[in-house]
Parts: sequence; structure tokens; C-alpha cells
Amino acid sequence: MPVTETPTETPIPWAAGAAYIDGRFMPIAEAAIPITDWGYRRSDVTYDVVGVRDGAFFRLDDHVRRFRASMEAFRLKPPEDDDAIRRVLHRCVALAGLRDAYVAMDCLRGRPPAGAPYHPAHARNYLAAFALPWISLVRPDVMERGAHLVVAETLRIPARSVDPRAKNFHWADLTRGQFEAHDRGADFCVLLDEDGHVTEGPGFNLFVVADGGLATPDAGVLEGLTRQSVIELAREMDLAVAVRPVTVAELRDADEILLVTTAGGIMPASRIDGRIMGNDRPGPVFRRLHDAFWDKRAAGWHATPVDYASGTA
Ligand code: PLP
Repeated sequence: MPVTETPTETPIPWAAGAAYIDGRFMPIAEAAIPITDWGYRRSDVTYDVVGVRDGAFFRLDDHVRRFRASMEAFRLKPPEDDDAIRRVLHRCVALAGLRDAYVAMDCLRGRPPAGAPYHPAHARNYLAAFALPWISLVRPDVMERGAHLVVAETLRIPARSVDPRAKNFHWADLTRGQFEAHDRGADFCVLLDEDGHVTEGPGFNLFVVADGGLATPDAGVLEGLTRQSVIELAREMDLAVAVRPVTVAELRDADEILLVTTAGGIMPASRIDGRIMGNDRPGPVFRRLHDAFWDKRAAGWHATPVDYASGTA
């Protein structure tokens, strides 16, 4: 993939973030997609998000592998292979000069060219990516007190309609659930499936903690890489951890609930449907896992250093 443009302006526009769209790099403020693109008009797009902390990507290869699997699930194919995608991500972070970054990769459907049948099979798909200064889903005060959750009336879109394992922007269920949470004075919703099993929330996976052991839903969810990291950590720490169906009753009765995502790591909850867990503050299992997660990351766990030289080449 030709990588042609280098920053020519003052560094300021790049410091707000750097983007790549279909072969070209640009400051984030200039990044735009055509309004007629099916990626926008039909949510016909897939994506992934990888974090950079202290100048290193976390689980970069796992994110690129999952992104490729999502693209295949939606029958999207950009010109870039996985190595080229990795180079684009390195260069976005390097151009923005970020040590801590939120790094997104998207593959959009595009549109069929004039004269071609009006069918997604005829569209030319393309890659977009960007790096922004680090974003966390949870504000520091919520991190401090623990998130307040509600179980939404809105159900998660059935996995047989839109498979949540392929990362997607079919967020109407999660967005509607967030308004339910807002109306009930809570921070986040949790969505159930049609059988009353717990799925996930807007941008995070869940763990319930009971009697010192953890459980996370096995189906109807994105197979989150933070969830995977928590499973690895729990096993190392000799905490029981199960990947299995989780009922809403288990969620409502849990000793602790953890929210886990790239954009924030491991986050605590302190209330569920108005019930206070523990002493209305983050619990002890959260603290152990949270501290171990960040200690291990500081020591280079699953880390790939950013190639900052790629921003000047
Ligand atoms: N579930 C949903 C719906 C998400 O959007 C995300 C992240 O964006 C997650 C779970 C967490 O996945 P990961 O830990 O890989 O960021």
C-alpha cells in the first residue's frame, strides 16, 4: 500500500490525532467519508479498537486478527493485508506523536461504481484508521465510586441477525438501552438476550463475581480482548473463572460486577437496578484484577512498541 503523505504543517493539527483513509494520511480534523457511502448509510462497516499505553500497543496482533475475522464475517475486503494494516496503525500513532492512544481501524463497504448492479457484492471496500489521545469509557469519578447499572427492557439484537462476535455499529439496541439507563439515573445499561441471559453493555463485556469466583457470558457477545485478558489474569491468580451462560438473577445478586473494555480496562460497578453491592464502592476482586492488569501492562504484557520512526519516514 503506498504511504505517501508526511506532515508538512506545524505539528499542532496532528497532535489532535492522525487518520488514514484509503491510502492517504491526514490530520484527524480533515478525515471524512462520503455521505453516500454504505458504511454510513447502512452501517455496512466493521471495526476494531486497540489501545496504546506508554508507547506500546496492547494485544495488537489479536486485534488485527479479530478485525480480519469481522471483515470476513461481513464479506468486506480492503486492499490492505494484515501487515499493511499494522503499518497504518503504527504510522497513525507516530504521526500524532501519542504515547497513550485510542486507535481505531474500520473497513467500510463503499458503494458500487456507476453502472454496476446496486448490490454490496459490487462495492469497492476500503480501510480507514485513526489514532486519538486516549479515551476512557468511564470518567474518573465513576471509576472512584463504581458505575451504576440497570438491566434494560431492550433486548440485544439476536446473534442470528447480527453476530456480535463481528464488531459492528448496529448499536440501536445499545443506544436505546443507554437512554433507559439515563432515564433511570444510571450510568450504563446491561442487555439480556431473549432467554433472559446476560449479554453485554454499550462498549464493554461483563463479569459477575460471586463467592470470590468469576463468570462471563459465553455467547451473544463480542469476544472481547480485555475479557480474554481478565480470564488469563484470573487463572494466573488462582481465581475461579467460568465462561458460561449467566442469568439475570446472578447479575442482580452478584457480590461484584466488572465492566471490561479496551477503552478503560477493568472498571467497577457498585449498583445494579438500584441495589447497592458491597459498601457502594468498588469491591476487592475488582481491585486485585485492576491492579494486576495495569502492573502487568507496565511490565510489557502483550505489548508491541509503537514504531515512532514510521511517522517521519
Ligand atoms: N462489547 C462491545 C459491544 C464492544 O463494543 C466492546 C468494545 O468496544 C467490547 C465488548 C469490549 O471489547 P474489547 O475488550 O476487545 O475492547
